[in-house]
Amino acid sequence: MKDIECIFCKIVEGTVPSTKIYEDESVLAFLDVNPVNVGHTLVIPKGHFKNIYETPYEIIANMIKTVKNLSEALKKTGAEGVNVAMNNDTAAGQVVFHSHVHVIPRYVNDGFELWHGKRGYEEGEAQQVAKKISESL
Ligand code: AMP
Ligand code: ZN
Repeated sequence: MKDIECIFCKIVEGTVPSTKIYEDESVLAFLDVNPVNVGHTLVIPKGHFKNIYETPYEIIANMIKTVKNLSEALKKTGAEGVNVAMNNDTAAGQVVFHSHVHVIPRYVNDGFELWHGKRGYEEGEAQQVAKKISESL
């Protein structure tokens, strides 16, 4: 459950330093070294799972519990909003292939933007897309 080349596995074992915020038996939270805003935190499983697809339900559930607690802590310490994001695969911007959730404190005028959709749906298209996805669950 460890990849010797993986930077986040090295953080878990302590051979690469990190600024830890929280840990329990299955989850670790630490500051991102290149924060979007100060306090930007990463929540990772202690075991090596590449992405959301490979991370077991109970581990993801623990990660999300930590994400919620951290979001509340960031609000209490002054964040005006919090983005929770997980990049999975290169197409989605994943660079480190050890599952992780970004918890990012946000401020009304911090200048960062999220994705902006550029299209709507054609007549009947939304129903087709929803059917295709729901049948794959
Ligand atoms: P992603 O694009 O979702 O794979 O993002 C990976 C994140 O990991 C980036 O925001 C990096 O700044 C962060 N990161 C990479 N190496 C380290 C490290 N040694 N300690 C803390 N954060 C890191
Ligand atoms: Zn790893």
